[in-house]
Amino acid sequence: MSLKTFIVLLGPPGAGKGTQAQVISEKLKLPHISSGDIFRENLKGQTELGKLAKGYMDKGELVPDDVTISMIRDRLSRSDCSTGALLDGFPRTPTQAEALASLLSSLDGSVKAVPYINVPEHILIERLTGRWTCRSCGQVYHEKFNPSKVQGKCDFCAGELYQRDDDKAETVTRRIHVYLEQTQPLIDFYQQRGVLLEVDGTLSIEQVSVDLLTALS
Ligand code: ADP
Ligand code: AMP
Repeated sequence: MSLKTFIVLLGPPGAGKGTQAQVISEKLKLPHISSGDIFRENLKGQTELGKLAKGYMDKGELVPDDVTISMIRDRLSRSDCSTGALLDGFPRTPTQAEALASLLSSLDGSVKAVPYINVPEHILIERLTGRWTCRSCGQVYHEKFNPSKVQGKCDFCAGELYQRDDDKAETVTRRIHVYLEQTQPLIDFYQQRGVLLEVDGTLSIEQVSVDLLTALS
């Protein structure tokens, strides 16, 4: 048996992966690693990686596999991943999933569970175009389904809330298309490996958390 536990949150953009990752990572004491957040941090810091990723993110396309895999390899080698991690937004292609499997075996770990948050397409558009994110701490809100207490301000750190550039309606449509083409095959990939756990992502945020924790227990 491999020693380290890695959990991959799977689902389309807007399914609630980031929202649920916060709850699960705290309960299971695993660091939350979001590939999208790492790209956005690099963008903010104007690193070479950030500049490269921006071109793809703005169009709703995926950053190339080699760049993304090497970024995740670096992140997973850090000491906070000594018992495993909760991955959100990675892998997103079969090539990334294969790379993750071989990377984890070299780290004495494996993908133990893949909760798949299932949400139909028509719901995703409303979720993404109404999403507001804290500029300071990254906390995610929804103007209708999960609003902040004070409009435009984060409940936790009072940071300014903003709408992501790639949450505009045109880019959202492209991102969902890219998901269906490149990421959806991972449902079969992980089902064949016996680790897929499907949950209904259309329920309330609280109910989805309960269902995910039950599925993982
Ligand atoms: P992902 O990380 O999968 O892209 P997020 O966690 O950022 O998705 O959620 C997308 C948007 O939908 C956010 O505005 C969030 O507040 C909202 N949201 C998440 N889960 C639910 C839910 N179960 N019901 C209604 N809105 C939700
Ligand atoms: P997210 O925050 O998960 O919605 O990701 C935002 C954007 O970052 C995506 O639309 C992609 O451009 C890029 N991205 C995030 N994760 C990956 C990944 N695993 N592979 C390729 N691109 C990614």
